[in-house]
Amino acid sequence: MLKNAWLWTALQRLTGLLTLSLLGGLITGYYGVCFALGFAGYALWMLRQTLRLHTWLEDPDQQEPPDAYGLWGSIFDRFYHLQRREQRVRGRMQAVIDRIQESTAALRDAVIMVDAEGTLDWWNVAAETLLGLRTPQDSGQPISNLLRDPRFKDYFDKRDYREPLEIPSPISLHTRLQIHITLYGAGDRLILVRDITRVHQLEQMRKDFVANVSHELRTPLTVITGYLETLLDNSAELNPRWRRALQQMQQQGGRMQNLLNDLLLLARLETTDYPADSKPVALDLLLLSIQQDAIALSGEQHHRISINIDSQLKLKGSEAELRSAFSNLVFNAVKYTPAEGNVQLRAWQDAEGTHISVSDSGIGIAPHHIPRLTERFYRVDASRSSATGGTGLGLAIVKHVLLRHKATLSITSVLDQGSTFTCHFPNPSNGQTTGTQASLESSH
Ligand code: ADP
Repeated sequence: MLKNAWLWTALQRLTGLLTLSLLGGLITGYYGVCFALGFAGYALWMLRQTLRLHTWLEDPDQQEPPDAYGLWGSIFDRFYHLQRREQRVRGRMQAVIDRIQESTAALRDAVIMVDAEGTLDWWNVAAETLLGLRTPQDSGQPISNLLRDPRFKDYFDKRDYREPLEIPSPISLHTRLQIHITLYGAGDRLILVRDITRVHQLEQMRKDFVANVSHELRTPLTVITGYLETLLDNSAELNPRWRRALQQMQQQGGRMQNLLNDLLLLARLETTDYPADSKPVALDLLLLSIQQDAIALSGEQHHRISINIDSQLKLKGSEAELRSAFSNLVFNAVKYTPAEGNVQLRAWQDAEGTHISVSDSGIGIAPHHIPRLTERFYRVDASRSSATGGTGLGLAIVKHVLLRHKATLSITSVLDQGSTFTCHFPNPSNGQTTGTQASLESSH
């Protein structure tokens, strides 16, 4: 009954109006005019209530609804109730937003939201200090206009965000930034930027230390191995027991020299991003000369080292670096293939780019070792590796050289049957789409 009170009031009003119109008609005899006036009055009253409602809804500060009874009172109450509920929800959401904004403002890492077109939507305070974004001027600007480093543009457009990107900050060359991008929603991107200057400096110190130690050790080692050579040249005058010791010292000295050379080469490869002396390299001449070196390395073991190459094939890059990468692969093939085994060098070109492969009929590699082969000092079998005079750095050098040439490495191997190491160099035009990471794959 109470719930429908407004209906009761409305009916009472309508009945009152009809009675008054009827009375008016009885008194004046003009029923039609009285009823018309009655309904016109009712319509005017309704219009007034509608206007009150409109005025109240329009005014955001108006807290209490205007006084009214019956149907209009119920409408005002219902609106008021809805308005209060919406205010409470809005208040709660605002509190959540305020907390999120406070926490992101306190973050030391920059957080940036970018829409599917690559324009800036939102960022926190750290984005202003790390990247120099300006609030609110930069809102709606393409991010590529503000972060102009070509490496960032490549990374952003490639949409392969498994590995983070490291670049200097656009506002301070001494600050090193690490960038992570996450895709979400309809192609939107969340960019996280971290200041890794300190880690970078430590990493740099480690590289400098290794490079300096290697460099400093080279001279004393050259002197020692030089004297050992002279002593061994005059071995006829030596006690046979000493001769054997000296031979071993010379052998280990040679290994140390190889190790220092490889460490220095790696340090050099790490210090710059792209080869300085990039020019077209004739692959046939390069591989032929590596084949000659491999034949010399094989010596008495008489490996069959064949070469199969599309003539006139050229590859843009640093000849010295490419020579060192391919030599490492070919020498490994010789080292890890028993005497009289086969080693085949191939080079060919297709729509994807230029490929150079080194296959052998050697001992092969178990599949679980393959993903780790290019790590420094990673060896499948340490004793066998030291027997072959390996440094454990050969494939790390290959990986670095390929990274610098935007190429990838794939490895397929079957235990006791042989291995194939293939270098894939993208064509300059599709260089953007091919990964810069040395990727590894195995078949078994
Ligand atoms: P190392 O100087 O010890 O040869 P590398 O980095 O060149 O170091 O190679 C890493 C490891 O990968 C080697 O210890 C070896 O076990 C394995 N390896 C590399 N090439 C081959 C190959 N062609 N056949 C079998 N194993 C190989």
